[in-house]
Amino acid sequence: MKQKAKNQRDEVLKELKKIPKTRLDEKFHQAHDSVFKKTDCLTCANCCKTTGPLFTSTDIQRLAKLFKMKNHDFTVTYLRQDEEGDYVLKSVPCQFLQTDNKCFIYEERPLACREYPHTNRKNMQQILGLTVINAEICPAVEQIVNQILLKNKQIDL
Ligand code: SF4
Ligand code: SF4
Repeated sequence: MKQKAKNQRDEVLKELKKIPKTRLDEKFHQAHDSVFKKTDCLTCANCCKTTGPLFTSTDIQRLAKLFKMKNHDFTVTYLRQDEEGDYVLKSVPCQFLQTDNKCFIYEERPLACREYPHTNRKNMQQILGLTVINAEICPAVEQIVNQILLKNKQIDL
């Protein structure tokens, strides 16, 4: 089963890589806008439930201030360091996710949460591998990728 998922992921990545680099950002940004116009993240929150953001030192400072904690105390309470030494959530679902799928710290949430799922950023070519992985977490990314590949096939015909 895992091998099947990996093969599918590799196939999608191969197809995305066929798109000329000069057109890739435009295609992603158009599909991102069209999919997110119809997406209600509050009925999903799968990103907050199953993965977590990286916390930069600026994120930690801002959130420690919000909770009136010292940076160190905030870090010890909520975060751990991953294999690369980055600060990530101690556990998922995210402790700041509420039962109605709203984020308790929404206005001050980490930069990575603001930018997720990264499908409207520049140089999409640099994160195609990550995007294909995100398509398994985020239904919007799955739709974005499918939309791009479908349109690309139609142009090929
Ligand atoms: S997984 Fe995607 S669709 Fe779901 S809440 Fe996160 S960004 Fe929105
Ligand atoms: S901080 Fe908020 S937006 Fe980020 S993962 Fe947690 S609940 Fe989701």
